[in-house]
Amino acid sequence: MADIKTKLLVIGAGPGGYVCAIRAGQLGVDTVIVDPQAHGGTCLNVGCIPSKALIHAADEFYRMTHASSGPLGISLGRPEIDLGKTVAWKDGIVERLNNGVAGLLKKAKVRSIRGSAHFVDGKTVTVSGDDEEHTIRAENIVIATGSSPIELPFLPFGKTILSSTDALSLSEVPKALAVVGGGYIGLEIGSAFAKLGSQVTVVEAADRILPLYDSALTKPVAKHLSTLGVSVMLNTKAENYADGVLHTDRGDVSAENVLVTVGRRPNLDTVGVDELMLSMNGPFIDVNDACQTSMRGIYAIGDVTGEPMLAHRAMAQGEMVAERIAGHKVSWDKRCIPAVCFTDPEIVSCGLLPHEVKDAKVGEFPFAANGRAMTTEREDGFVRVVARASDDAVVGIQAVGVGVSELSAAFSLAIEMGATLADIGATIHAHPTQSEGLQEAALRALGKALHI
Ligand code: FAD
Ligand code: NAD
Repeated sequence: MADIKTKLLVIGAGPGGYVCAIRAGQLGVDTVIVDPQAHGGTCLNVGCIPSKALIHAADEFYRMTHASSGPLGISLGRPEIDLGKTVAWKDGIVERLNNGVAGLLKKAKVRSIRGSAHFVDGKTVTVSGDDEEHTIRAENIVIATGSSPIELPFLPFGKTILSSTDALSLSEVPKALAVVGGGYIGLEIGSAFAKLGSQVTVVEAADRILPLYDSALTKPVAKHLSTLGVSVMLNTKAENYADGVLHTDRGDVSAENVLVTVGRRPNLDTVGVDELMLSMNGPFIDVNDACQTSMRGIYAIGDVTGEPMLAHRAMAQGEMVAERIAGHKVSWDKRCIPAVCFTDPEIVSCGLLPHEVKDAKVGEFPFAANGRAMTTEREDGFVRVVARASDDAVVGIQAVGVGVSELSAAFSLAIEMGATLADIGATIHAHPTQSEGLQEAALRALGKALHI
């Protein structure tokens, strides 16, 4: 048993926790970070990165499979995929990133301890690791323990019932896959398996897919799912799975595997948060704008604080908390947290939607009128700019289209910098790029569009 005293203890080395620890270390704050798993949390090990690797492999496979029937004059034999090799490639990327995060923590002079932390009181935790047990006393503690997939009692995770973590490490492509939950994870991973050749059926309880996004943005995704051969059952509840059949209240679905993606719950049990009697916001820890909990010196960041459960939000919170602990006068002053869904086509939503702005001025530009989109054979989708009519300040930008995730930086930057419609309209956007859609949408809101 070793006792450790520190200024800052970070519990959990996901994107929230490791960014918090790195920034605190850089600022000279004596910092310890604790996690039983490899550095990087859900995002790096079983979330953002592995899912995007699978999506990339599936896109490549699908393109090759359909090249000969396309208009480009390319002929190919029938491609095959060894999913075991794909997964090994993905694991290699994850390992490189695990090591990268460990190196950055070391460079910032952060002490890393492998183990699971449990609160004794508001200033003390015990950590049980592989070899040693530690007691850590800290002036400040950041809870960054993240989230885990919600399990449905009638579809317990096991051999054939998959969580997102299981689905990202399969050794073979299932012939038929039922996906329960048509949200972020179900559609990202479900579309990837459809492209790899699975017969995919999505079972969604709501009346449309991706209910977190506005319906204009999700329509092109729904349309393309049908091109990919994905069946979508809306207003449908899964009931149970037996003998290769998923029973729902609207009929049966034959499936070799069932992927359950109905949301995520905060990881609070192992850390013993109950004993601290913190104020809660439903199942999540309640925090103020500075990520302070109801107990002095205890902060919470990332998925444990609820939606939006996004890696970049967790990182921004972690950075802010570290700077506050180092004595800097910073607070949460972000105008938008971009949300990107890596479906096909991709969706980006930054800032406010048209119906959220009183007297909104809205400009929309379809990719069907964008030269670059035509040259990539995909013209579905659009860019939409939302401004305040009173002063033309841009308060929201959304898009749906192939590759629009990379436009998200321009969208958030415009909103953070307080750009007006005229600012975006007068900025020279390189030709031919999809980003011209942003300029044209702003011009259209001003009644001055050139290419439509
Ligand atoms: P986590 O990343 O969950 O990390 C928490 C860490 O705490 C874990 O390492 C865990 O081991 C550790 N921990 C738990 N209990 C204890 C304890 N008692 N003691 C010590 N350590 C503990 N977000 C995006 O922004 N973009 C995406 O493309 C994206 N794709 C995703 C795809 C999938 C399949 C999934 C599942 C999620 C995805 N997300 C994505 C969400 C993203 O992964 C999370 O929002 C993000 O990881 C949250 O970061 P965090 O630091 O709060 O927690
Ligand atoms: P989600 O909230 O995005 O989707 C869950 C879906 O399941 C919803 O559409 C909901 O209506 C449906 N549902 C709930 N109960 C159901 C039931 N019994 N039967 C059928 N449908 C049911 O949740 P998720 O896909 O599990 O993702 C969890 C979180 O992870 C997301 O909120 C997101 O913040 C994060 N994430 C982000 C990204 C990204 O940024 N690209 C990718 C993946 C995950």
